[in-house]
Amino acid sequence: MTGNNFIAGQWVPVERRREVLSPANTGEVLGSIGLSAPQAAQEAVAAARKAQRGWKAMGMVNRGNLLFQAAAALEAHLDELAELATREMGKPISETRGEAMRAVAILRYYAGEGYRAVGEVIPAANPNALQYTEREPLGVVAIVTPWNFPLAIPIWKIAPALIYGNAVVFKPAEWSSLTAVRMVELIGSIFPAGVLNLILGLGTEVGEALVQHPDIDGISFTGSTGVGSHIAAVATQKGIKYQTEMGGKNPVIVAADADLDLAVEATVSGAMRSAGQKCTATSRVIVEEAIHDAFAERLTARTQSLKLGNPLEPDTYLGPVVSELQYQKVQHFISVGQQEGARLLTGDDGRAGGAPGFYIAPTIFDGVDPGATIAQEEIFGPVVGILSVQSLDEAIQVANNIRYGLSASVFTRSLATAMRFVHEIEAGLVRVNDETAGVELQAPFGGVKGSSSHSREQGRAAIEFYTHVKTVSIRAL
Ligand code: NAD
Repeated sequence: MTGNNFIAGQWVPVERRREVLSPANTGEVLGSIGLSAPQAAQEAVAAARKAQRGWKAMGMVNRGNLLFQAAAALEAHLDELAELATREMGKPISETRGEAMRAVAILRYYAGEGYRAVGEVIPAANPNALQYTEREPLGVVAIVTPWNFPLAIPIWKIAPALIYGNAVVFKPAEWSSLTAVRMVELIGSIFPAGVLNLILGLGTEVGEALVQHPDIDGISFTGSTGVGSHIAAVATQKGIKYQTEMGGKNPVIVAADADLDLAVEATVSGAMRSAGQKCTATSRVIVEEAIHDAFAERLTARTQSLKLGNPLEPDTYLGPVVSELQYQKVQHFISVGQQEGARLLTGDDGRAGGAPGFYIAPTIFDGVDPGATIAQEEIFGPVVGILSVQSLDEAIQVANNIRYGLSASVFTRSLATAMRFVHEIEAGLVRVNDETAGVELQAPFGGVKGSSSHSREQGRAAIEFYTHVKTVSIRAL
């Protein structure tokens, strides 16, 4: 497959290219992607600017109808999209299929927004005046995405951007660009030329040129905290709106009265699905001392039963991590964990041995110090650390003692414990007796502290980012 740019409704070949290798079998070449020069960002922004006025003028109901068409176009190719995403970034097919279905559902959700009210009628002092609010699109929005949800994250930004009347320049991650190309092949020409543009290439080159471009009106970014903080600074300097959804180091608290089977299953799922490469992945398990041994034993046994292997097989629980860089990063954290004195309960057990891909055995550390590197830094791999505490007080304090604040869970049968956790935990997504990952598309999504710029994505919350409020007063004569 050959990935190129889509600008002003045309596929534009990119000369400089990079091969895309399968993370499950590095001998397999899947295709190549263009590495655009910064000039591509100029062209794409110009095309979006030209198209945006007409797109806005079309009105929400008509735009919504095109989003319904886009949903149908993706739905007709669900299996193909899921397989491509799995081949390209290594997530098991059972998960990419769910993700493709979610992308379709998100498109339908925002298509439906085309029929819903967006403003309010507000009383005016003059009884002969009508005072109300409207929503105005930002204009041209830059959308920069990571590789770990190659279908859902782009769509949960593109769909609300479009329904509210913005034109889009979409720059996907280097490791998921073929999937992005196929999605845009399926939906790009449903919209008027220039409304949805795609540019491929390196973040530091064409990505940087896009976010620095003087003629964009907003940036929606999901990715690492380092890049997100840089983008936030660029947007602030330019005086444009931005949202940055970034890293996480998500805790699960297992109280002494927890349903242990549920807590084990949710921890394994939260930590190991997608090989731990979710911003909402469970990374720290904070366990009350009284049940520590029983929990650690069951967690280890369940983790050792997981199938690590070819992500195209339907019963694979976790596949490879996305790239050699990611593989080295995760292995580095595993070595650091050992050097810092944490106890390896399972991991590096030979299941990954011999495979020609970036496979890492699911890994559990016990006795992790709350200040240790593996308890503080986002690993983004199939690695989880157990931290033992004496009380709920200590558990909440340990959970909050971190620069991140994306998602957090508690497992308990006590309503009082649950309520206290809900009130005191510093996280944007808070869950009781459920895993840290897996928030629904109709609910607001986002974090606090270093995880997010505090804006929210998905659900009705997306309107707050993709529009400005215009207050209108009409006086009858
Ligand atoms: P990344 O920050 O390396 O890259 C994200 C995107 O930014 C890519 O498209 C990349 O090309 C682009 N980019 C890089 N440098 C840029 C620059 N200078 N200017 C403009 N664009 C640039 O992140 P990643 O490795 O692709 O994704 C993993 C990270 O994403 C993890 O930290 C994870 O927690 C985070 N993430 C967060 C959420 C969330 O909603 N909070 C969801 C998924 C992933």
